Amino acid sequence: MLDTKNNDCLIEILQLELLNWFEKAKRDLPFRRTKDPYFIWISEIMAQQTQIDTLIPYYNRFIESFPDVASLAAATEDQVIKAWEGLGYYSRARNLHRASKIIMTEYAGCFPDNFSDLLKLPGIGPYTGGAIASIAFNEKVSAVDGNVLRVISRYCNSFDDIGDAKTKKIVTVWIETILPKATGDFNEGLMELGAMICTPQNPKCLICPLRLGCQCHSFGTTNELPIKKKKQKQVHKKMEVGILKRGGELFFVKRPGSGLLSEMWSFPIVETTTEKGDDIKKKLQEFFPELSEPVFIGESRHVFSHIIWEMSLYGFEVPSQVCEAPKAYISDEMEALPIKTQFKGRDSINDLALPVAFSKLLTLIDAVSLQTDVK
Ligand code: SF4
Repeated sequence: MLDTKNNDCLIEILQLELLNWFEKAKRDLPFRRTKDPYFIWISEIMAQQTQIDTLIPYYNRFIESFPDVASLAAATEDQVIKAWEGLGYYSRARNLHRASKIIMTEYAGCFPDNFSDLLKLPGIGPYTGGAIASIAFNEKVSAVDGNVLRVISRYCNSFDDIGDAKTKKIVTVWIETILPKATGDFNEGLMELGAMICTPQNPKCLICPLRLGCQCHSFGTTNELPIKKKKQKQVHKKMEVGILKRGGELFFVKRPGSGLLSEMWSFPIVETTTEKGDDIKKKLQEFFPELSEPVFIGESRHVFSHIIWEMSLYGFEVPSQVCEAPKAYISDEMEALPIKTQFKGRDSINDLALPVAFSKLLTLIDAVSLQTDVK
């Protein structure tokens, strides 16, 4: 990072030009029209996984359902998950819910107004805590996300790996030595510049307010920075999904309390080596001995951050006299755990908080004859 003693001028450019630019150029976003920490919190958690422009309809829908901490805390987990549907990373929604309950019980419904108390809430780490504390309360703390790391690496011409936790720590500490009075605007300005001007590809240096001080611009290293070493490759898993039909209903299971899509409703799914429907059939037969032969429905793919599911869907009929909810769960790890299951009519499936990995299969299921009489 830049030495603050010998680079006063460069640091001043960073502070002043960024604040001036942010004041004029910032996007008009619903959560920027307020300093209410609740709205900033929700938007920051959503922004961890989704581009700002994309998240606005989700944000508006969520805020409409839960306009304040009290309403969020009073909701059921299923309602919160439902309102989060489409955003993925459902543990974040659960943490929002848990944190709202803590705010109601331990802070008498008042949002914690400082960085250290914010960090005690589930789902709030140094970035989100810093963003809320600085934007809502103008506390002098940094909020370092990927955008900020990129801008600072380039501005300081740093060749440290921004994927390394040590680099993040160095940047965080360095920013805290140069934070101006308008801390919230400065932090937001860095994020905004990273999103709008100093983008990962083709940064718009010619219109960048920082170009006079930017060190990589001076040294001609813009295209080399930031340094980000390649992450571990995503693991491909072949999965078989069981689409069980009982009369006019489909069968769902609730996933275990930890791991991928924890506690979300799903179709039964197992990892497979054969991809002929045998693995899912074998597993399902432990619970539904009188299953029909599997009917291949189609294929789908779902990409998580570290895993890719290559899914083959197989349809099965179960006799209508089969019990309402077998007392076992068929997980992709081939384990049987006592957990909730249910049959749902096609029209009421929308009531379930079904993650996108599974809800997108409904189109495929609807298209095949197996489902023609599921209403
Ligand atoms: S001048 Fe270019 S590289 Fe430097 S901060 Fe601006 S956009 Fe990024």
